[in-house]
Parts: sequence; C-alpha cells; structure tokens
Amino acid sequence: MKTDELIMLYALIPVVAIIGYYFYFAKRRKQFTKPVTTEKIFRCVNCKMVYTDDEDVGLSPCPNCGTTNEEFKF
Ligand SMILES: [Zn+2]
Repeated sequence: MKTDELIMLYALIPVVAIIGYYFYFAKRRKQFTKPVTTEKIFRCVNCKMVYTDDEDVGLSPCPNCGTTNEEFKF
C-alpha cells in the first residue's frame, strides 16, 4: 500500500508539471499574440515621414513638418 502511494506520487509529479507548463505557455502565447500597439500609422504627404499617433485621432500633424495627414492604409 505504501509503495503504491509512492508510485502514484511519482507518476503525478510530471503530470502536474506538464499541466503547469501548459497553462504557463498558453498564458505567454496569449500575451505574445495580442497586438503590441493599438496606434494608427500615418505617412506624411509632404516629407514622407512615417509615424504613429493615438488610435482615436482622425487627422494627425506630422512631427517633422507639421502637415496634417490622414491615417495610412496598407
Ligand atoms: Zn511631414
């Protein structure tokens, strides 16, 4: 009886470890695949500079020359 419990315990340790690793990497994968930024990409029509601005702005002034630009669509 004592030996059986010991065998069960040794069998359970890797199972628990694998389940733990699975959830750990599932959590990391979720963090990795989510978008890094929600910012919009703008490209200046005047100086061709590419820059980003907040998601909620429609028109953004260029940080280089000040020209107001629309969001750049790929
Ligand atoms: Zn510019």
